[in-house]
Formats: sequence, C-alpha cells, structure tokens
Amino acid sequence: MRALAPALEKRRQQQLYRARRTLETPQGVELSVDGERLLSFCSNDYLGLAAHPALAGALAEGAARFGTGSGAAHLITGHSYAHQALEEDLAAFTGQPRALLFSTGYMANLGVAAALLRRGDTLVEDRLNHASLIDAAQLSGARLLRYHHLDMDSLRRRLSGAGEGDLMVATDAVFSMDGDCAPLKAIDESCRRHSAWLLVDDAHGFGVLGSKGRGAFHEQLGAAGGHAILMATLGKALGTFGAFVAGSEELVETLIQEARTYVYTTAAPPAVAWATRTALRLVREGEARRARLRELIARFRDGARQLDLPLMDSQTPIQPLRVGSAAAAVKLGEALRAAGILVAVIRPPTVPRGAARLRVTLSALHAPEHVDRLLEVLGNCYPGVKDVAC
Ligand SMILES: *Cc1c(COP(=O)(O)O)cnc(C)c1O
Repeated sequence: MRALAPALEKRRQQQLYRARRTLETPQGVELSVDGERLLSFCSNDYLGLAAHPALAGALAEGAARFGTGSGAAHLITGHSYAHQALEEDLAAFTGQPRALLFSTGYMANLGVAAALLRRGDTLVEDRLNHASLIDAAQLSGARLLRYHHLDMDSLRRRLSGAGEGDLMVATDAVFSMDGDCAPLKAIDESCRRHSAWLLVDDAHGFGVLGSKGRGAFHEQLGAAGGHAILMATLGKALGTFGAFVAGSEELVETLIQEARTYVYTTAAPPAVAWATRTALRLVREGEARRARLRELIARFRDGARQLDLPLMDSQTPIQPLRVGSAAAAVKLGEALRAAGILVAVIRPPTVPRGAARLRVTLSALHAPEHVDRLLEVLGNCYPGVKDVAC
C-alpha cells in the first residue's frame, strides 16, 4: 500500500495541489467565495442560466410533478416522461433522428466508446481532447492514437496507419482549456474516407455557437450522416446538469443496449430534465445573450491586445492567458484574487507541462465594466509574473 502523505506533499511543493472553493452564492459573476466577495471569470455558465429564476421554477415544478429521485436505472423504471420529452426536444433542436440522455458528459463519452469499440479497434484523438475522451479509450479496450492538435495531416497519418479493426475519431468541438475550434468538416471528410465513426464533443459549443445556439456540430456538419455522433453537456451553457448523445436511430438503440455507463446507473432526477426543457427554450430564444457574449469576447480581446497580453487563438468565451510554469500561474492567480477577481489557474496534468495558464471565461452576465476591470488588473499584475514565466 503506498503512503499518501508524501505524494500530497510533493504536489504541494510543485504548486500542483488542488483545493476547492466554497460558494455561498449561486453561480454567477459576482460571487461570495469562502466569505469573500469576488468578481468571477471562471464558470462554464456562458449564457448565465445556471441561476436563472425560470429554471429554478421549472425545477420546482418538476420536483412537485415527478418527485426527487428517479428511483431506478432507465431500463428498469427510471425513465420518466420528463426524460422522454427532453430527449425528443433535443433531437428536434439538433436536427438528429434521436437523442439519449446520460447523467454526465464524462459518462456519455465513456459509454459511446465502450459501446462501439472493443479490443483490436482504434480510437484516434486530438492531443488536447478532454480527459473523458482519453479515459473512454481505456474503458473500451481500443488502442488510443493521438494526433497533433488541429493538425489534419497528422490525423490522416494516424488513420492510414491504424491497421485492422474499427476506427473512431473523437474530438472536442471547442477545446476546453484553449477555446479554439476543431475543423469538423475536414475531420469528417477523413472519417468518411476511412469509414470511421466521428465522435464530436460539443460541451463548450452547444448553446453558444451556431444558429439558435445549436452548437459547433450543427453549424459545421449539419445533420451529417450516420457515422457522425454528437455529444453535448447540459451543465455548461444550458445551466442545468447532464448530457446527451444524438445521432441515428440505430446508434441510440445500440447505446441503450450496450453503453455500460447508461445501463448500470440510476437515471438522473426527472425534475432536472424538466428544468432542462426550459433551459433549451431559453437557449433557442437566447440570441440577445449570445450577441452580448460576442461583444464581451471582442472587448476582452481588444483590451488584452492593447496590453500585449499573450492571448490564444480563440473566438469563444474561453479566453486563456498562457503563463508557462505552474508557479507563475499560481502567483498571477493569487495577485488577481487579492484584487478581488477570481480566475481559474489551470496546471498540469490538465494542460501540458510548461503550458499552465489562467482560464478566463466570459458569461453573458458580465457587464462591459467587469471586463474592463479584469483588463485593468491584468495590466497591473501580468508584467510581474512574466519574468518568472519565461
Ligand atoms: C465538461 C466536459 C465534459 C464532461 O461533461 P460533464 O457533464 O461535466 O461530465 C466532457 N467534455 C468536455 C470537452 C467538457 O468540457
């Protein structure tokens, strides 16, 4: 049995120790955190729906109508009218024949890979994919091959060299720690040429990008053929909880039979699904929120450019600032916090070594003045860590 304390101590020394914060307020841009008032730029609540009164109302109505717990797995008696209605809403919204709810996005990615791939098959992934897609390869038993970030030549080489067995390509649509977008059309073409499945994780695009917030998958691939699979989460822009997979009739029926993370787990509370139906309506009618978000993104990028901050190539609400070492990133995060601003410090292994960063995220709830305040503080603090970083 390995001793735990030395490993924890080592983490601390390497500035890699992770600790949680406790929020006393609902999710939002002005938070009370561990007794302190802070202006926050760290949620995935891009449209500001997580604490929207209409969703709280729908959740209460759902609880009154369907109770608290689902009481069983979907295949026993846990599948409620609320789940069924939400699945139908999601299929209609995404333009896909069917949609299937999962309890979390992590479980959805694991479930899809494990249902469609087995030992002898190959899962080809962008190097910067979310951890759940990497773990999905392990659960499925498929061989994992990774290609250079967004590099289509590298992807094609991987596909050509994959050998026997079925193939699947999996990619984040919007990369969670970088904010940049995958060229889904080009990836899709390669997949067709190799008869490979394509699993697109639209966790950060769904609700935010594309017409009516239908996401990057819909925007770039439309109602692509049966080999393309959409996964999106409901706990980010939609402001509730859970995830879904959308695709062909046969795909969804296969997942119901074979996705272990679907079959062997309790169905999520039906009231949450009920609230998500309202969230979906707010997303569909949310053009003003998305327009505001785009204005905030442009304002932040303009200001950061003027300050010579190291912006990354992102047009999404995820606007990371590369720092370098974990120690420098922690120092910058602390300086911001001392000035009343909360930004997530992202360190290895979530990002590669030497690529620690501040992950600034914007929400439609931010006012232009909030962005200006962040820029002002960054302008004061960033030069101080630059030497440490480089
Ligand atoms: C958040 C996230 C997930 C996991 O979704 P949960 O519903 O939080 O489990 C999967 N993929 C990406 C890219 C994510 O950002």
